Amino acid sequence: MIDFNKPYLTGKETQYIQDAVASMKISGDGIFTKKCHKYFEEKYGFRKVLLTTSCTDALEMAAILLDIKEGDEIIAPSYTFVSTVNAFVLRGAKIVFIDSDKENPNMDIDAIEALITPKTKVLLPVHYAGIACDMDKIMALAKKHNLFVVEDAAQAIDSFYKGKPLGSIGHLAAFSFHETKNIISGEGGMLVINDERFVKRAEIIREKGTNRSAFFRGEIDKYGWVDIGSSFLPSDIIAAFLYAQLENLETIQKRRKEIWDIYNKELTSIQKLGVKLPYIPTGATNNAHMYYIVCKNLNERTQLIKHLKEQKINTVFHYLSLHKSPYYSNKHKGGDLVNADYYTDCLLRLPMYFELTNQQVLEVSSSILSFYKAK
Ligand SMILES: *Cc1c(COP(=O)(O)O)cnc(C)c1O
Repeated sequence: MIDFNKPYLTGKETQYIQDAVASMKISGDGIFTKKCHKYFEEKYGFRKVLLTTSCTDALEMAAILLDIKEGDEIIAPSYTFVSTVNAFVLRGAKIVFIDSDKENPNMDIDAIEALITPKTKVLLPVHYAGIACDMDKIMALAKKHNLFVVEDAAQAIDSFYKGKPLGSIGHLAAFSFHETKNIISGEGGMLVINDERFVKRAEIIREKGTNRSAFFRGEIDKYGWVDIGSSFLPSDIIAAFLYAQLENLETIQKRRKEIWDIYNKELTSIQKLGVKLPYIPTGATNNAHMYYIVCKNLNERTQLIKHLKEQKINTVFHYLSLHKSPYYSNKHKGGDLVNADYYTDCLLRLPMYFELTNQQVLEVSSSILSFYKAK
């Protein structure tokens, strides 16, 4: 059986967890959390990072930080994970769903401006498969209309746009370390704060609305309730696991890119049959978070999944357009989003993880080729 995903342990995870336990400081913001924060701030030049227990939490913090209120409008892709927008719905926002691009599932940049109204507050680009949205255009629109930009960079660790790390461009950004991502801690996430104005308040929101972080730094002599917030910070046990992964980031990324390149080379020929391979615009890098193909239609994809399953290969489709979801369909006031529906029906993700062997990648590729040859 070739699995779709398998978490990769680099070796030091349990050692570091033992070290964290031995330090007897296993709640949030211990030694390993500080090491992770330093790592990200130094490597990617993020103004300020805060580990959270998930990317979902980081997005919820972003919504609180931006003072999202009843009736505020958020422009976000329909083809994304629930958390991207649910975080804002929790604060009463209305989600204005935008279609995906024809070339890849990222938001259709040319469709943004027509959706902006006086109530629009946030543009919420999702870097699908770790491939950058056109951030120059998004930031220019945000500037012109006085909007905030929150990058959903859940899949975008170590990926770049015109040389800038993803997550460093918007006012805020959210990353995930869920076990399905490149760098993992089981559950886990991170909020990046690039806009100085939000740094202090982000710490408070993450600490249940208290100024405890400033207290621990000795900046104030007692701490209390100063704002709203919640418990968004992870235990240092989680950070210990994450730090072991970060020490091996280069190795992990190198191997994932090798796998990605094999798929991309082996599968070139199926493009002639109308199947699409990942599209990476100029200026964007590939962090090999995912390898996907886009079949011609739903029926073809269903047949292909079945064919691969018979060869003991697990492949999975991805999001179901949120504008058609049971929760939001009656609230969606926009029109059809044909590309979002196209990816909902046709996109298929192939096995992708560190320990996948070249032999297995070739096996998956040749099974796909034989499916299309027989057609
Ligand atoms: C994984 C993912 C999330 C959620 O991350 P969690 O850490 O599981 O909360 C949000 N958005 C996107 C695009 C994702 O891929």
